[in-house]
Amino acid sequence: MTAPSPTHWHAQTVEDSLQRLDSGPTGLDADEAERRLASFGPNRLPERAGPGPLKRFLLQFHNLLIYVLLASTLVTLALGEWLDSAVIFGVVLINAVVGFIQEGKAESAMRAIQKLLTLDSRVKRSGEVRQVPAEDLVPGDLVLLEAGDRVPADLRLVETRDLRIEEAALTGESVPADKTSRPVTADASLGDRHSMAYSGTLVSAGSGVGLVVATAGETELGRISHLLGSVEQLQTPLLADMARFARQLTLIILVLAAATFIFGILLRGYSADDMLMAAVGLAVAAIPEGLPAVLTIILALGVQRMARRSSIIRRLPAVESLGAVTVVCSDKTGTLTRNEMTVQRVYTAARRYEISGVGYAPEGDVSPSGDLAHDLHELARAGLLANSASLCEVDNRWCITGDPTEAALLTLAGKLQLDSSDEALRQPRVDAIPFSSERRYLASLHRDEKGQGVIYLVGAPERLLEVCDQQWRDAAAEPLDPRIWDDVLEEGAAAGLRMIGLARRVVGSGQHELDHADLDNGFVLLGLVGMMDPPREEAILAIEDCHSAGIHVKMITGDHATTAAAIAERLGLPSGTPLTGADLDDLSDTELDALLRETSVFARTSPSHKLRLVERLQAIGERVAMTGDGVNDSPALKRADIGIAMGIKGTEAAKEAAQMVLADDNFATIAHAVEEGRTVYDNLRKSILFILPTNGAQAFVLLTAILLGLTLPITPLQILWVNMITAVTLALALAFEPAEDDLMARPPRDPKAPLLSGELLWLILLVSVLLTLASLGLFIHSQQLGWSMEASRTLAVNALVFGEIGYLFSSRRLNGPARFGIRDNPMVWAMVGLMVLLQLGFTYVPALQSLFGTRGLRLEGWGWCLATAVATCAVVEADKWLRHYIASKRRPPLT
Ligand code: ADP
Ligand code: MG
Repeated sequence: MTAPSPTHWHAQTVEDSLQRLDSGPTGLDADEAERRLASFGPNRLPERAGPGPLKRFLLQFHNLLIYVLLASTLVTLALGEWLDSAVIFGVVLINAVVGFIQEGKAESAMRAIQKLLTLDSRVKRSGEVRQVPAEDLVPGDLVLLEAGDRVPADLRLVETRDLRIEEAALTGESVPADKTSRPVTADASLGDRHSMAYSGTLVSAGSGVGLVVATAGETELGRISHLLGSVEQLQTPLLADMARFARQLTLIILVLAAATFIFGILLRGYSADDMLMAAVGLAVAAIPEGLPAVLTIILALGVQRMARRSSIIRRLPAVESLGAVTVVCSDKTGTLTRNEMTVQRVYTAARRYEISGVGYAPEGDVSPSGDLAHDLHELARAGLLANSASLCEVDNRWCITGDPTEAALLTLAGKLQLDSSDEALRQPRVDAIPFSSERRYLASLHRDEKGQGVIYLVGAPERLLEVCDQQWRDAAAEPLDPRIWDDVLEEGAAAGLRMIGLARRVVGSGQHELDHADLDNGFVLLGLVGMMDPPREEAILAIEDCHSAGIHVKMITGDHATTAAAIAERLGLPSGTPLTGADLDDLSDTELDALLRETSVFARTSPSHKLRLVERLQAIGERVAMTGDGVNDSPALKRADIGIAMGIKGTEAAKEAAQMVLADDNFATIAHAVEEGRTVYDNLRKSILFILPTNGAQAFVLLTAILLGLTLPITPLQILWVNMITAVTLALALAFEPAEDDLMARPPRDPKAPLLSGELLWLILLVSVLLTLASLGLFIHSQQLGWSMEASRTLAVNALVFGEIGYLFSSRRLNGPARFGIRDNPMVWAMVGLMVLLQLGFTYVPALQSLFGTRGLRLEGWGWCLATAVATCAVVEADKWLRHYIASKRRPPLT
């Protein structure tokens, strides 16, 4: 067949469209699909070409800090200091190369993580529905759509049921458009083509079937894909803060350099050339040029670590906000529980049955057994017929496709020896309405052996009791006695069972479609079943962790309040009266706010309640993480401080709205992610705290020397060496620092607190002064001993570096005592080793000696350096201890 010419598909009839693409109601067969895939290529949007390598490299220079360094190169050049000029430029170049490589790595790591979120579609091929990657779709395929799906290709709609699609990605219109299969006029604009579903748009309600008419770059989205952003920028609030800080710092440095220049010439009588060099030295000393790269690496490493533990970050700022979360609102079913449903109890009007057996294997006993189980069979048959899940046995293990709640009903039917294909033959399905969390029921219409219509209704017992006026006892219908059912509902729910009702209604033979109006009354209640869905063991531990980390956990469920409370107790959530969706509707904001803190279970809620909960929690000052999976969870996910979507059972709409996706749908993963988020934030802070004093000290050394009228104890070249080397070695080691022991025992961070609080600024100042004293002191001392200028300078540089090494061990802990262990972060000692080697090279290798003007040191020089390291560490530790002591004195101990 030929490639479909650009056709006005929206104006064609369904039949014409199918014919043009050689497709039919059963879809393509596998061979044909494969042939077409080979000729049309994968259904993947052409990746937007980002800036090329050259441009990305040049962008590394686009930075105020670097401009200052480049200007310094020019100044030294103008002064004829060729060597200085070459080395400064060399450093700028090395910095750009390092930044280029690291940014590239970080971006490809991010891209690899995003690729974990692939899109699958349900396609009809050879009459069977199967799940295929959206990339394998070809023109002519029939794609099934339902609420929450992302449309995987451009589709001519063949069948629709209340289908509404949100096309903001394409048209900018955020109100969902109603869709039908009827053709529209050829000149209809994109937004008016109601017979089409376009790639990249989101199904917000209903369901439908569409014929693929265009894939990949041929889709409307493909045509405008140059408008879409590709990889997200590696940016977070903290990094933006740092960038702002760096700019301010640069300005301060420039002013300071200018002041020094003038001061030196006017008051100290230095020559203009000398002072220019000093100003340049000051500029390069104070600029933390290595810092941005280190911060990016820490972030990228954190995101990678999270991905390894099943949390996929979609938006980078999430990494930071995770560490500040104070409330986690979690779905119950599947996240806190295993979502492995087993029917354990059945209540009919006449009696109560206990069902044994574990998992989905249709093997187990019923007690009481006996011939009287006619009512039980009727109920099980209803559960079987109204079902859209399926069971299969692979290697002696029973697995399911579809909803676990429905699969459990299949297992129940299996235990009663009902055969699904027999039953389906006897009562073929005519129409069905799938389960939805808003309505809390599903229904299906069948034709029985006498040609009569039968509707089966399965869902939340309260809903069913509203529409039943009769109940089934043994073999006949009798008037409904609501008291029986209220009692057994309460009894089952108190045992932690998920309660489901089943009902039946006979209708005329002429009925072919199911309507919600058919489900309003006239049903006969067949009974209730109670399913066990055990809590996840790991969730119990994770909830404990959250509590000790000062994070409240709230369970949100559509399930019955009593069931939810029973499960909450097993999970170790604080007991308290659950609030139901109905309560939420009745309470005013102020009333609700008063109850929010002590309520940890919200039951019988609809997705719309989640948004209100997020808003009210935020209003009382909490920072909320909210989980979600359905299409209607999107507003709450977007509103939450962190929206978390389920990776397995979540819809595309939920993932799109979320900042983070749980690859394993597991609550414990959220707790891990919070821990990682806190670790990343800690490590960002640690490396900032570590790097800035180096710059501070160098600047102080130069300033003091100029004020005192001394020769420069450290040359600009040597300063550059120290800046470069410490940033890429020592500071980098902090990126690998694991979580501190008490990380999950601390309260959540206040995101409004400034990054560099007074305490941290004090620390930076303290260490800067310490390093200055050591470096300058040893310089002056060795000069007095008669060392050569070169040797004294070499000593000053080494003292500075060794002071940094000592400080590194303190920096590993923000609050606790310094750490010297190797095991939890081998990078620290590795980098210290490397650093020492580099300093030995700097001191003794002839080529480096002539480049940097260094000289070999006497042994006592190294002894002083070592002493500097120990002293720096000791003083910082003493300061930490003192601040702790004062703080504990000020805060009376809790009694
Ligand atoms: P959650 O996911 O929080 O457990 P749901 O909205 O899935 O809540 O379920 C709410 C209620 O709807 C359940 O208590 C049960 O009675 C009923 N229900 C859930 N899933 C199904 C289903 N697939 N078919 C019929 N009824 C269901
Ligand atoms: Mg559910």
